[in-house]
Amino acid sequence: MPESSKSTGKDNNLNKRIYLSSPTMHDLEMKYIQEAFDTNWVAPLGKNVDEFEKEIASYVGVEHAAALNSGTAGLHLAVKLCGIKRDDIVLCSDLTFSATVNPVSYEGGRQVFVDSELDTWNMDPKALEKAFKAYPNTKAVIVAHLYGTPAKIDEIKELCDHHNVPLIEDAAESLGATYKGKQTGTFGKYSILSFNGNKIITTSGGGMLLSNDEKAVKKARFWATQAREPAPYYQHEEIGYNYRMSNIVAGIGRGQLHYLDQHIQRKREIYETYKEGFKDLPLTMNPYLKDSKPNFWLSCILLNKEVTQTNPTQIREKLEEHNIESRPIWKPMHMQPVFKDNEFISIDNKNNSKDIFERGLCLPSDIKMTDKEQENVIQIVKRVFA
Ligand SMILES: *Cc1c(COP(=O)(O)O)cnc(C)c1O
Repeated sequence: MPESSKSTGKDNNLNKRIYLSSPTMHDLEMKYIQEAFDTNWVAPLGKNVDEFEKEIASYVGVEHAAALNSGTAGLHLAVKLCGIKRDDIVLCSDLTFSATVNPVSYEGGRQVFVDSELDTWNMDPKALEKAFKAYPNTKAVIVAHLYGTPAKIDEIKELCDHHNVPLIEDAAESLGATYKGKQTGTFGKYSILSFNGNKIITTSGGGMLLSNDEKAVKKARFWATQAREPAPYYQHEEIGYNYRMSNIVAGIGRGQLHYLDQHIQRKREIYETYKEGFKDLPLTMNPYLKDSKPNFWLSCILLNKEVTQTNPTQIREKLEEHNIESRPIWKPMHMQPVFKDNEFISIDNKNNSKDIFERGLCLPSDIKMTDKEQENVIQIVKRVFA
């Protein structure tokens, strides 16, 4: 146990750090790892990888999946599958983690950032339409489902289809979330998942590329294993990568997948408890559409515009004093120094992603948090407003 979580006083619980979202392990994970050890299938590929791919594909409802060592690797391969080359334009979610958009740069492409709408905090289809007009030569679109909340994906997909441009769905945060009854990760020509340590299920680190296009997924696996041609010697006709998931890591994932629905259920309870607890405060929770079911990966708050008595930084610092982790909303990509030369497209000069960033905060959403601990978080936040 780390030093900081040891008991130092009479109330042990008050000293236990409460996390935003940390790994939650069960029993089955070890079973699959043990199996890999027992069969000496510890080396890169093996049964757990093959089965994990099939199990995820079947859960999400796509035909093919390639297990990789990160979600970012999945995004990179998706960008390559779209054929992105130097100076090609890719329209991207603006309010997201940098991993959503970095792979465009790996291939020399150029991101154009598309503002968020306020109904889901995700890419605004109206701003996307405007971006398509400004860039009729767009080569791909990358949309993220922020914090596990599905974007207006029908409208986004329709625009992509209309312009005959492939859609890459970054479902890193949204595994298990549905839009009109369909899983996120099924809308993109290529979709990706992440099993990073803080995601809704984890393999300690890992990702997956999903697609109904068998040839594309085979190509991705080929690139991900150093682009080794089928020859008895090492023959290379393309540049490859070392992106595959190991058989041990896949074992953790197979175990975790049994508990995904349970994780989502608990995440939802946490969200609902915050919503109820904050009902008298001048704030709202991260919103979602009536016909979508988020996985509630992170519960976030958005202070009302008129709030002057406090701000997200103050709330975050107050929680930190109590050893409770919270985190600012992703800082929009168009505000990042590294993307200062990239264009940002919004409707009527709005800047919804900046607005959400400035008024929002991610609250601890760890599924091991007890009811009592969450009540404590709620009381601390309420006192900041008092
Ligand atoms: C976590 C995350 C990624 C990257 O996944 P890794 O497995 O950490 O590489 C990409 N996009 C979003 C939106 C994420 O939250």
